[in-house]
Amino acid sequence: MINFSQYNFAGKKALIRVDFNVPLNEKFEITDDTRMRAAVPTIKKILADGGKVILMSHLGRPKDGPTEKYSLKHLVPHLAELLDGAPVLFANDCIGEQAYLTADMLRSGEVLLLENLRFYKEEEKGDEGFAQKLARLGDVYINDAFGTAHRAHASTAVIAQYFPKEGKMFGLLMEGEVTSAEKVLHQSEKPFTAIIGGAKVSDKILIIENLLERATDIIIGGGMAYTFMKAQGGNIGNSLCEDDRLDTARELIKKAEAKGVCIHLPSDSVIADKFDANANISIAPSNNIPAGWMGLDIGNEACEQFSNVIRRSRTILWNGPMGVFEMAKFQHGTKAIAEAVAAATQSGAFSLVGGGDSVAAVNQFGFTDKVSYVSTGGGAMLEYFEGKELPGIAAVKA
Ligand code: AMP
Repeated sequence: MINFSQYNFAGKKALIRVDFNVPLNEKFEITDDTRMRAAVPTIKKILADGGKVILMSHLGRPKDGPTEKYSLKHLVPHLAELLDGAPVLFANDCIGEQAYLTADMLRSGEVLLLENLRFYKEEEKGDEGFAQKLARLGDVYINDAFGTAHRAHASTAVIAQYFPKEGKMFGLLMEGEVTSAEKVLHQSEKPFTAIIGGAKVSDKILIIENLLERATDIIIGGGMAYTFMKAQGGNIGNSLCEDDRLDTARELIKKAEAKGVCIHLPSDSVIADKFDANANISIAPSNNIPAGWMGLDIGNEACEQFSNVIRRSRTILWNGPMGVFEMAKFQHGTKAIAEAVAAATQSGAFSLVGGGDSVAAVNQFGFTDKVSYVSTGGGAMLEYFEGKELPGIAAVKA
């Protein structure tokens, strides 16, 4: 596969699928530009080579064709700012004569942002005709949208077939994501600890199953831990529980035992008398929570227990918070785990944090620069670690 960094883009029209699906307020101001900033290194490298950049993305979930609310034109001024004032043009339609003409007339060092891909239903359907029309815009195709790599949409996967092997590649963001994920999944140094948290067991069954093949230790925290506790005969009071997953939890524990993988459940919990930031709180063993109370965070003993496992690990994957970290009373566990992951990283472990809420937690607690890699992909990251082949990655590699 072509290496992006070694490619010379001078004079080339580089068509890049980016993920500019940023949140906008009612005045169409960007409230979080993380996704835009993530694509800047790729764009800058092409411009520095003397190339021309054509950007395509989706924004939100427009249902009825073009609407002001979902127009990418609102992003133009901020994009120009992020690119140090490089000229950024806008095409009102992502395909069609105006887009083709503007693309053909682009000069080296200029950027063209195309209107929202999802104004066409064909995008999400993965329509070949639509993908082919998009492909006409560029000399080379670059996928730099890890966040949508698990979708077989026209611009994320189908389009790649219209470029020769030497005309398609990953951008720097995608390259970083793929390299980090592969390092964890296929080249992990042992001990390899996976920390899985969050609300629901049902969302994480496949990832746990796949990790049973690779990890030495699996730490389970967050709301999902209580389904495991109940499955083993514990009293969990009003804690979150998926009663229809008790068998699944028992099976996962059995499989782990058979494979020699250590599953760690929190020995104690911070319990609350209601799901509320001002609830009364106490501490209880996670398998003996009094009636009327619920576990909303891992306790101090569990923090210690989990931190010891994390600190001796060489590879760490973290997906999902240990408690209701959005409320101050229940964020201590997630913070303690972030600290342990940072300490292990400092001692040479490779740590990857991914999935919406754990990324938010790591950012909130100021640990972003203290872990090896923070993934930008929520669903894509989860599917990758479930062992699925992501269409956006496969199409570029083909
Ligand atoms: P997920 O999207 O599945 O990773 O879940 C993240 C959400 O799980 C966050 O909003 C947390 O507040 C929530 N969560 C974590 N621990 C608990 C818990 N013990 N009880 C209820 N919700 C929890």
